[in-house]
Amino acid sequence: MSKGKNLQKIVILGAGLAGLTAAYELAKNKKEVIVIEQADKVGGLARTVEKNGFKFDTGPHRWYTKNNKVNDWMLNLMDEEIIRVPRLTRIYFDKKFFYYPIRLVNALSGIGLVNSCRAIVDYVIARVNARFFSQKMVTMEDGYINQFGKTLYDIFFKRYSEKLWGEDCKKISIDWVGQRTRGLNIITILKDTLIKSKKVVSLVDEFSYPKDGVGRIAEKLAEGIRKNKGKIITNNEVCQINTTRGTINSVVVQNKNGKQDIRGDQFISSIPLNELIHRLNPAVPLRIRRLALKLRYRDELQVAIFVKKNHITQDTWIYVHPKEIPFMRFMEMDNWSDRLSPKGTTTLVFEIACNVGDSMWLKKDKEIIKMVLNAYIDEFKSISKNDYLGGYVHRVAKEYPVYHIGYRGDVDQIKKYVNKYKNLQLIGRNGTFRYNNMDHSIEMGLFAAWNIISGGHKYDIESVNIEREYLEEKKIENVEDETLEELNNTQTE
Ligand SMILES: Cc1cc2nc3c(=O)[nH]c(=O)nc-3n(C[C@H](O)[C@H](O)[C@H](O)COP(=O)(O)OP(=O)(O)OC[C@H]3O[C@@H](n4cnc5c(N)ncnc54)[C@H](O)[C@@H]3O)c2cc1C
Repeated sequence: MSKGKNLQKIVILGAGLAGLTAAYELAKNKKEVIVIEQADKVGGLARTVEKNGFKFDTGPHRWYTKNNKVNDWMLNLMDEEIIRVPRLTRIYFDKKFFYYPIRLVNALSGIGLVNSCRAIVDYVIARVNARFFSQKMVTMEDGYINQFGKTLYDIFFKRYSEKLWGEDCKKISIDWVGQRTRGLNIITILKDTLIKSKKVVSLVDEFSYPKDGVGRIAEKLAEGIRKNKGKIITNNEVCQINTTRGTINSVVVQNKNGKQDIRGDQFISSIPLNELIHRLNPAVPLRIRRLALKLRYRDELQVAIFVKKNHITQDTWIYVHPKEIPFMRFMEMDNWSDRLSPKGTTTLVFEIACNVGDSMWLKKDKEIIKMVLNAYIDEFKSISKNDYLGGYVHRVAKEYPVYHIGYRGDVDQIKKYVNKYKNLQLIGRNGTFRYNNMDHSIEMGLFAAWNIISGGHKYDIESVNIEREYLEEKKIENVEDETLEELNNTQTE
C-alpha cells in the first residue's frame, strides 16, 4: 500500500479493551480507523450485561495495575465514573471461609493443628529441595508446591485449579502460577503478618471500579472512537484475512447480509491467535497450522441470579472449592456498586468453567439456573426460593488461554511466522495468547497505536505482561505513616 502515513486506513480486529484502546488512541490522533467485532456489543471479556434493570459484569473485574501511566490513562478516560471499592475475597471449602490472599493465622487456624504442622514441615521440605536439589520446575503443581509446600497446595490450590481447568495441575504450565498467586510464598505471608511497620503495602484491599460496571470502560472508549470519526462495526465476524507476499491487504467479514471485503493499510489483531492463523489466505504452512491447533482455551458459563434481598454476602467474590458444587466462584454485584441493581435487590453471578460443546455447556439455560440456584441455597442458606426474581446465562467462549506444557515454544514459533506480515500487530489476551489483565490489554492497545502514530516499532508489545511473578504489591516509599498503619491493619489478622 502506498498511501502516506497520515492517509492510512487502520483495520482493527476485535472490540475488546485492547482493540478499542488502539482505535481510541488512533482516532484521537486523526487516523482513519475501523474496528470489526463479531459480537453484538463491544467489550469482549470485560462487559456489563443488563437484563430487566439488573446489571452484572462478565466475571469479577477489579482494576489493578503496577503501571502508573496506564493507571493515569484509565482514570483520565473514566474521570468521575470511578469509585473505590473495598475488596474482600475468600475461599470456601469444608464449610469454612478462608481469606484470599491467604492470611497465615486465618489459614492455619482454619485447617487445624495436624494440617498446620504438616504444612510447616512440607514447606521446609519444599525450601530444602529448592535450595539443595534444584529441579527444573515445569508444571503448575511444581510452582505451587515450591511456593507453599505440598499440604497448602493440596488444600488451597489443587482443587480449585482442577475445577477451573478441568484437568490435572501437572498438565498446565508453571507460568500461570506466577500470574495468579500475587508472587506470594510463605515468607512474604509471614513477613506481612509479623512485621507491621514494613513499607510494603498491599493494594489488594481496595480497587478502582466504574460505578456503572466494568463494561463502561469499553463503552467510554467506543464513545470516544465514534466522536473522533472512527468506525466500529459489530455483528461482523472476520472470516478471512487476505495477504500477498508478507502484507495484509484486506479482511473478509461475514454478517447477516453476507460477506464484505474491508481493505486497509495497517492491521491490528486482538482475535484469538489460533483463529488468526486459520483465517490467513493463502493458507500458512502446515507446520504453523499444526502449532495453532495446539492452542486451547477454557470456556465458561456465567449464571446471573437476581434476588429480592441485598448484601447477602460481605464479599466482592468468593472462590468455591468443593467439586460437588458446580460453580467455582461467585460474586455479589451490590458489593461492587449499589447502582447495579434496583433498590433492595442484588445480583449473584456464578461462574462454571467448562468447554464449548461439553455436557455442561450444552445444558439448557433453565436447567443451569435451577442447578445453580439449588446448589447455592443448599450450601450457603442465605436466600430462599422466595427471594428468586429471575436468572440469565451468559456464555463466554475462549475465556482463559490454557498454558499447556511447552506452550511458550509453540506460541513463539507462531509469532515468529506472523511477524513476517509487516503491517500486522498482535495485541490482547487471546491475540497474543497471554494471560492478560485489563491493564495489560490496554497497554498493548496503546503500544500498537503509538507504533502506527510514530511510524515505527518503538513500543514493544511483547514486553507487556512478561513478568513471571505477578506481584500485586507496590513498594511505597513516601506514604504517610498513618496511611501505612491503616493499610497494614487491613492486611493482618
Ligand atoms: C472471568 C474473568 C475475570 C477477570 N478479572 C479481571 C480482573 O479482575 N482484573 C483485570 O484487570 N482483568 C480481568 N480479566 C481479564 C480481562 O477481562 C481481559 O484481560 C481483557 O478484557 C481482555 O481484553 P482483550 O481486548 O485483550 O480481549 P477480548 O476481550 O477477548 O477481545 C477480543 C475481541 O475480539 C472479538 N473477536 C474474536 N474473534 C473475532 C472474529 N473472528 N471477528 C471479529 N471479532 C472477533 C471478541 O468477540 C472480543 O470482543 C478477567 C477476565 C475474565 C474472563
